[in-house]
Amino acid sequence: MIEFKGASYSYTGGELLQNMSLKIASGAFYFITGPSGSGKTTFLKMCYGSLIPNTGELRLFGQDVQTLSRDDIAMVRRKIGLVHQDCQFLEHLTVRENIALPLSVSGQERFDDNMNLKELLAWVGLKGRAGAMPAELSGGERQRAALARAIIMSPDIILADEPTGNIDWEMSQRLLQLLIELNKMGKTILLASHDLSLIRLAKSQIQARVLRITNKRIQLAGADL
Ligand code: ADP
Ligand code: MG
Repeated sequence: MIEFKGASYSYTGGELLQNMSLKIASGAFYFITGPSGSGKTTFLKMCYGSLIPNTGELRLFGQDVQTLSRDDIAMVRRKIGLVHQDCQFLEHLTVRENIALPLSVSGQERFDDNMNLKELLAWVGLKGRAGAMPAELSGGERQRAALARAIIMSPDIILADEPTGNIDWEMSQRLLQLLIELNKMGKTILLASHDLSLIRLAKSQIQARVLRITNKRIQLAGADL
């Protein structure tokens, strides 16, 4: 689904990520870890097709990103759910409206997957907060609302960029449990985090793989972490 072959990325000046070659396995749970500034967000942006490697190859769902048309990119993104670090809600819309936004944007009245909007709100523990404004939510609630919005279109892959960066441990654990549940339903998860406790907790429950960025290289970390 996501495959890098000898790909490198640089903004300006020197290379940030060098010679990446890796294949994201469908249905797996990945942590993307590395110090602040090492390129975790940049890596996820490439996986989303919003940044393109300067050299080498990147394939998203079998297609070379260099050759993707605007429509192809839209198709790719329909299969990917994104949880931003800062959630990015429309502050003048309610929580329910924000979560349902991808549906209205794509012209669907309701989503007809296994879960309806009500069930989705209950699943993320926000049933009673549906009518609230984003500013009224706690940090943990905001992240769960962002996760609900990311999965409302039933994506195959969920990319989450340090979603637990600004929330307490209890809320981080709760968010992780939701991601683990999604993974058990068959979703591929890419979770950027430098929280070792979170990685350990995940590893005690599922077979999480760890992609670590060090010295501009991204590699699968050994079992010892
Ligand atoms: P991380 O998510 O691991 O903290 P990032 O991918 O956000 O790392 O950033 C990696 C490096 O690239 C940082 O040094 C950052 O300042 C730089 N960077 C990020 N975005 C841009 C940009 N749009 N233009 C130039 N440099 C950038
Ligand atoms: Mg980042």
